[in-house]
Amino acid sequence: MRGFVHSIETMGLVDGPGTRTVFFLQGCPLRCAYCHNPDTQKRMGGEELTPEQVLHIVERYRPYYGEEGGVTFSGGEPLLQGEFLAASLQILKREGYNTCVDTSGYGDPRYYPAILPHVDTLLLDVKAFDSAAFAQLTTVNGFDTYLAFLNSLEENGFQGQIWVRHVMVPGLTDSEEFMRQLVELIRPIWARVDRIEILPYHTAGVKKYERLGIPYRLEGVEPMDKGRAKELEIYANKVFAESLRAQRQAQAEQKQEQPRREAAASELEKSALLSVLRGLPLFADLAEEDVEDILKLVTLADIKEGEYVFKTGDPPEFMYLIYQGQMKIFINTLDGEEQIFYIYRDGDFVGGLNLLVETPYRYIGQALTDCKVVVISKAAFDKYFYDSPVVLRSVLVKSFERIRWAEELIQRLATSNASMKTAGLLLKLAKRIGVETAEGIRLELSMSREELGNFSGLRRETITRKLGEFKELGYIDLLGSKVIVIKDLEALESYVL
Ligand code: SF4
Repeated sequence: MRGFVHSIETMGLVDGPGTRTVFFLQGCPLRCAYCHNPDTQKRMGGEELTPEQVLHIVERYRPYYGEEGGVTFSGGEPLLQGEFLAASLQILKREGYNTCVDTSGYGDPRYYPAILPHVDTLLLDVKAFDSAAFAQLTTVNGFDTYLAFLNSLEENGFQGQIWVRHVMVPGLTDSEEFMRQLVELIRPIWARVDRIEILPYHTAGVKKYERLGIPYRLEGVEPMDKGRAKELEIYANKVFAESLRAQRQAQAEQKQEQPRREAAASELEKSALLSVLRGLPLFADLAEEDVEDILKLVTLADIKEGEYVFKTGDPPEFMYLIYQGQMKIFINTLDGEEQIFYIYRDGDFVGGLNLLVETPYRYIGQALTDCKVVVISKAAFDKYFYDSPVVLRSVLVKSFERIRWAEELIQRLATSNASMKTAGLLLKLAKRIGVETAEGIRLELSMSREELGNFSGLRRETITRKLGEFKELGYIDLLGSKVIVIKDLEALESYVL
């Protein structure tokens, strides 16, 4: 089996995440008025390749793909060559490549179940928001076909993320009202949409039409103003994030209507208990002379950035109270990734529960900055703290906070897309280490991009890309690699439940 390949771009940077090899396939029936690749519209032509040859080509470029990059099929309309596309994707996935398909949703549905489960990112073109506009912009009455594609992604096994793309032509869809229509149109796929991109219409392809002797239907239309397109892109992403949040909230409420009422009552009790406990420092109910005795039994350790405080399997011999600095608590997952659970700082403690129930440490504690840590031995703990209601309550509260945190983390990892995870992480950091300044909430980070990714369940390249996008959207500012300034807290909050 062979596919017709118009051309190959070996190091593409705009057709999906990271660096990618892009195969532009022949054939597209839509004939969009602004198409800048009219030479790809013919069904046949170009080079004929087998899926095995596709694999052979991309093997050469594998070292450049990094964590996020991979292979993209674009066009033309790649779904038109369904059989070839399905076979190529299956081979690529078997070999561990990240895959991406750039489509207008106009292909042969018979092949969708063989194609869609093997696509990591769908670059989904949204041409128009109603039937008439679709027919006018393309040359076919294909709006219903497009909607059917949107609605069938899930049932055809698509599990990836979607980047929605819309080419904005001045005078056609360049208004906030149209951006709201765009968001509404993609409602069936909201859960999978990672970002909305507005591509300003340009006239770079006009010359090709002259060369091919095809009349250009947008003759005289000026290129779209890039600044205005960016404004509307920011607006569309905001509307989308708010709509998605409202939808998730409504779904969560509907699902848990009964248990939620019960939970609300106990939440109230718990938060009242928490607010009382928070006011009590760990040593508060110890007698003055006991404190003096304890001073002989505890040590103040200076721990340098990067040093381990405890490791998985360490026996429950000490608990640690952070006096100054920051510590991360994490595990190494089976696939070698680091999963950070908590970042602890001044006043936080860890290990109390281990001493109480005498179980070894399950996680790893490592200093993120130079730290001063009070090390309390089991002997001191047993003698002075074991019977202290204040300490027991503090341990209980910490454990409760950790359970909540873990629950949130599981939910975040399971149900959020990359934007939500990144926004959630920034909000968490804002609460924890944010400092209000005239420019916004300043976050002085002690973590690298990789550690930020590990904290939020994202890869380093994804978190870097997401931070770049948030910067472009005006939500944050990046000052070097260690400082983030949150400029639009509301916008970030709109991503998070
Ligand atoms: S869908 Fe893409 S390739 Fe097809 S005509 Fe439109 S712009 Fe050109």
